[in-house]
Amino acid sequence: MVHPEMLVEPVVQELRLPAGIVGPVEVTMDVRCFIVSHPDGLLLIDTGPGSADPIGEALNRAGAGWDDVTDVILTHAHPDHFGGLADVVARSPQAVVWAGARDCPDIPSPEPPRPLAEGDRVRSLQVVEAPGHTAGHICLSFEDRILFVGDALFSDAGALGRAPEAFTADPVQAEESLRKLARLEPERMLFAHGPEIPDPVTALHRLLQDAPEAP
Ligand SMILES: [Zn+2]
Repeated sequence: MVHPEMLVEPVVQELRLPAGIVGPVEVTMDVRCFIVSHPDGLLLIDTGPGSADPIGEALNRAGAGWDDVTDVILTHAHPDHFGGLADVVARSPQAVVWAGARDCPDIPSPEPPRPLAEGDRVRSLQVVEAPGHTAGHICLSFEDRILFVGDALFSDAGALGRAPEAFTADPVQAEESLRKLARLEPERMLFAHGPEIPDPVTALHRLLQDAPEAP
């Protein structure tokens, strides 16, 4: 079966973390939602705080509208990923909201998100469980070629990094999930924080070699 080529439109916002959250000084970072086309419309991956307006503008640029949004998938239950959910759902009430089963109870939503588990499909994406950062953190794979990694990894200045330990529920489990993602060998990885980098799997193997020994 041949899929039509999938289109991905990132929606990038600046996120300011006040001093004391990840270090002694204020940190500015980007957070990305993604608009992903599929044969019957569009789906959204993550909805950061204040993302509804920029998502709406990106939909317009693509010649689409909120009516075309069939599904909203949340990679995990952190506010920089679900903070815009209520606004998004108000604009696209037909969209079905999904999240990893173990994170569903922690996501404030007008309708409780529907639970996802390993191997489940939403439209053209397949769920890859990657727990650790949160218990129900998921990644999403398109034909084993493109992997939306959520917060399992981020990129900064062309290098890969692990999500900060301060925000990671179970670092040992998170490391195991990174080894799983490396075995998938996707051609591209799309991060919630930071732009794409070339040859991400090689970069991930390099990161894993630097890992501290698991206790
Ligand atoms: Zn997170």
